[in-house]
Amino acid sequence: MSDYYDVLGVSRDASAEDIKRAYRKLARKLHPDVTSDPDAGEKFKEVSQAYETLSTPDKRAAYDRGGSMPGGAAGGFGAGFGFSDIMDAFFGQGGGGRPGAPASRTQRGQDALIRVDVDLAEAAFGGERSIQVDTAVLCTTCQGSCCQPGTSPATCDICHGQGSVQRVVRSLLGQVMTTAPCPTCHGYGTVLPSPCLECNGEGRTRARRPLTIRIPAGVDTGTRIQLASQGEVGTAGGPPGDLYVEIHERPHPVFSRNGDDLLCTLHVPMTAAALGASIPLETLDGSAEEVDVRPGTQGGEVITLKQKGAEHLRAQGRGDLLVTLEVTTPRDLDDEQEELLRRLAELRGEVRPAGKLAPAHQGVFSKLRGKFSGR
Ligand SMILES: [Zn+2]
Ligand SMILES: [Zn+2]
Repeated sequence: MSDYYDVLGVSRDASAEDIKRAYRKLARKLHPDVTSDPDAGEKFKEVSQAYETLSTPDKRAAYDRGGSMPGGAAGGFGAGFGFSDIMDAFFGQGGGGRPGAPASRTQRGQDALIRVDVDLAEAAFGGERSIQVDTAVLCTTCQGSCCQPGTSPATCDICHGQGSVQRVVRSLLGQVMTTAPCPTCHGYGTVLPSPCLECNGEGRTRARRPLTIRIPAGVDTGTRIQLASQGEVGTAGGPPGDLYVEIHERPHPVFSRNGDDLLCTLHVPMTAAALGASIPLETLDGSAEEVDVRPGTQGGEVITLKQKGAEHLRAQGRGDLLVTLEVTTPRDLDDEQEELLRRLAELRGEVRPAGKLAPAHQGVFSKLRGKFSGR
């Protein structure tokens, strides 16, 4: 008599799960229906006996103590050896799955997803939009009955409307009954004597249709708008799935976006930056704002216009508009302007009378020169 642990190929401290797994693997390999090995039957018996003992805690304990072998071959699969275990081992995930009732042709449709490109203003402040949606729709010819008008589904002759057929499998256990979907009606229990020609008996067709959607204010690239029951219509008049509209925001030439804040650049003339000024700015929502540039403003300074950004998607209020100031240096000076600037530069000691720059670092050079000449 071989050692049961060796027969199953597991260690002596193998868990119940390990033993079960090892047994299933061997049973699949050795089952007389799947192998041509003439000795498989004997091996299978041996494996089954080992499993019967090791999978039952009491018997395993007795076996480990070296006790007598319980149960003769006739006892075979005694208590503790669940029938579903056998089914699982022989037929994969068999047994379950089909509780007996025929399947319904009517199924809920799938969700659908489409991408919509929107302008920044539309995303920030919302709007309405007409789009084309391509989904399955109810077949207008059969209205989801799947049958040619005037005909109806008939009870399947093979399974008598059960949707499943029983097969008898001969095995070492004797005859095992197994249930499988009826191959004639594919498990529906009914057949279509005259399937609808328009939809091939599916009860739905594909169509392109216009749909007006509301873009909520504050959406951003990647935001998905869920439209209940606007997705694919199900088979045989089944309810439709949902439609998801994914927002993709087109870049704007002037404004960009950071979350709910909008960003833009405002060009400020050099004189305005120095003297201070109020500069008009048209915001993304079309309102006219005055940007207050303080005297002595430097390039790169950011002015925040509160509540002038995109609307919050899930809250009241809006983000801010962040205006980055860029100081522009004049390029097209006429004689008079140049004269004025030169005069200004002289007054500020930024230019020598000859017109050459007197940069700050020149002082360093004169100091160095002084050092070398010993002064
Ligand atoms: Zn149809
Ligand atoms: Zn059938």
